[in-house]
Amino acid sequence: MMKEYLARSGAQRRKRQVVNVPIHWHMIKKKNKGKSAKDEKDGVISESAINEGIERLNAAFAPNFSFIIASIEINDNKRYWHIDKKGDDDMKKELRKGDCSALNIYSTRLKQQSLGWATMPNYCFGNMASDGVVIDYGTAPGGNTYGYNKGGTLIHETGHWLGLYHTFQGGCDGNGDQVADTPAVAHPNYYCQDIDSCPNDGLGVDQVENFMDYGDDFCASEFSEGQLTRMTALWNMYRSDERIEFNDCKKNENLLMIQIKTDMKNRQTRFIVKRGWPKKKLRFTVMKELGKNMKKNDVNTFYECIQTDKFCYQMRIFDKGHDGICCKNGKGFFSIWIDGSQIWKNNFENLDKQKKRFGNCLVPK
Ligand SMILES: [Zn+2]
Repeated sequence: MMKEYLARSGAQRRKRQVVNVPIHWHMIKKKNKGKSAKDEKDGVISESAINEGIERLNAAFAPNFSFIIASIEINDNKRYWHIDKKGDDDMKKELRKGDCSALNIYSTRLKQQSLGWATMPNYCFGNMASDGVVIDYGTAPGGNTYGYNKGGTLIHETGHWLGLYHTFQGGCDGNGDQVADTPAVAHPNYYCQDIDSCPNDGLGVDQVENFMDYGDDFCASEFSEGQLTRMTALWNMYRSDERIEFNDCKKNENLLMIQIKTDMKNRQTRFIVKRGWPKKKLRFTVMKELGKNMKKNDVNTFYECIQTDKFCYQMRIFDKGHDGICCKNGKGFFSIWIDGSQIWKNNFENLDKQKKRFGNCLVPK
């Protein structure tokens, strides 16, 4: 199975520079009962505003993603106007186009001054009809949502759609947003200010200008490198046309993804993942790869279906040069992902070996 994954996904995928994402824009317009010309415009976003919004979207997600309009349609079903999160099902079921790799945007008027909401990548499998991004039409560039009318809402919601959490997810504790280079944030920040809300995280001041905080459109202006990496990884798992079909992993299995960025001396490095039960030897080899088969100074991705609730796994990585994969000959790293969540990341610095256990490694009583 491993070999097949490599042939089908790894090698081909790594060649791709940019992920191209088609957009289907469903514009909900207020039903005009022949009252005034102003009514007629409710919900309608001009072509230039849409283009400006897509331009900003592309700038925000570059160089990893590129978005292009595949279709725009206007719908005036009054049940789709002035909705909340619970009320978007029929709209999506009727209008949605494409598979999990298509970004469906629904612009309409939202209740309770909500700016928007989105579904996450892992949700799409099995729930494709409900997958997508919903925004208030006033958040488009030039819209009527003051402070949030430069297109930042679409970028924020698309960040969720590609797998990002808020930077303030989990507050100061725990795994937070599961991205290593965004400082922990205690509470949402609504505008740009100098603040270190989690002073003990060792990462410095809040990234208030991050698109995944709640800063207004004057403030929000960037994604971190780690966020872009996470989005690409989740894209490959859940949204890519070449993604690992979950049919390949059985219901009781989990998708293991290993990412290794080698240094310039890739031939010195190799890794192996073994499976077993705690206290006994981990005998069964799940995955192994030699550095000579990996791309030099680049990210290499490997997949396998495993059972984390049943078995204990151990990953071991070796470097013949005794200098690890960081930082003498490049900035390498090694990360382990289970079902789209990163459970471990290490720079493997200045050592000849490193190991990590995961799965069910409790010693039975
Ligand atoms: Zn959000």
